[in-house]
Amino acid sequence: MIKFLDLEKVNNRFRKEIDNRIKSILDEGWYLLGKWDAAFEQHFANYCGVKHCIGCANGLDALNLIIRAYGFGPGDEIIVPANTYIASILAISENGCTPVLVEPDINTYNINPDLIEEKITERTKAIMVVHLYGQAVQMEKIWELAKKHNLKIIEDSAQAHGAIYKDNRTGHLGDASGFSFYPGKNLGCMGDGGCVTTNDDELAAKVRAIANYGSHIKYHNLYKGFNSRLDEIQAAILDTKLPMLDDDNERRRNISKYYRENIKNIKIILPKTYDENSHVWHVFAVKCKERDNLQEYLKQNDIQTLIHYPIPPHKQLAYKEWNDLSFPVTEEIHNTILSLPISPVMTDEEVERVVEVINEY
Ligand SMILES: *Cc1c(COP(=O)(O)O)cnc(C)c1O
Repeated sequence: MIKFLDLEKVNNRFRKEIDNRIKSILDEGWYLLGKWDAAFEQHFANYCGVKHCIGCANGLDALNLIIRAYGFGPGDEIIVPANTYIASILAISENGCTPVLVEPDINTYNINPDLIEEKITERTKAIMVVHLYGQAVQMEKIWELAKKHNLKIIEDSAQAHGAIYKDNRTGHLGDASGFSFYPGKNLGCMGDGGCVTTNDDELAAKVRAIANYGSHIKYHNLYKGFNSRLDEIQAAILDTKLPMLDDDNERRRNISKYYRENIKNIKIILPKTYDENSHVWHVFAVKCKERDNLQEYLKQNDIQTLIHYPIPPHKQLAYKEWNDLSFPVTEEIHNTILSLPISPVMTDEEVERVVEVINEY
């Protein structure tokens, strides 16, 4: 069977080094906020080209921490794409802010920059861009809008570690960025993990304190914080895998290119990219009117696929107040999208097999 993502194979490439590092952590007996956390934060900040990286417990917390640190709360609005993964929106509502949904561009699946300005009110505090499926958002217009209306740009970079827009990587395209290191992400740990990146010294200090009970100095609490930390084992694992991230992303690009050049089936619409470097292909999402049929057919041919995502946020029961709203582009995406297997450990034979089977559909 061709797995959607063979995580065991992904991580076994690092087995020896990870074994050594976990053993050293056990020997030393220091589990939180230690040398591995510090090392990884430094290395990931350098990788993204920013001054600060603050490790935290997961990607949702990373976004939550940014919004808290800015002090946004009830009455404040944050603009966010309507077709994002629910976590982007949860981070906004968790702080009592109002998520304002904007339709995506049908070609990039990212927020449609032309539809943002009409949603800006005097309550708008920030635009949350989501680099969905691994493609960096085209930021030019969004930078202009943020400047014009004095808004913060928060990036949700959970799917796009390493993607580049105009010479800068995600994590360095807005005022602050949240990353997830969930095992299946392009850079993943072996449990939950996340981080915030920013060039803003004040924000960085505040995020670090809020993630640590609101405390800069032990037992002195400046903010009503919470507890969200990246533990030493996860940090050591991430620091082992980080040097391989660019190679892994390159392999994903090659697979994507092969798919895009060789899948020739009029029933299937292939994803596009405006620039090869902008996309790290966390997800290779095709569109097909007979999506469920196609998925079943691939399953019968031993090819695992996933749907990112089957239900749009505004149709979720958790957001009943939005259930009657209409976002046609978002709905079309959710009804037709299917994610093909893509990962750095897929063999050429597997990639070729996927193409062959799809072309026979
Ligand atoms: C994975 C993901 C998150 C949440 O990250 P967790 O570490 O799972 O909390 C947020 N936004 C997007 C777009 C994601 O894909």
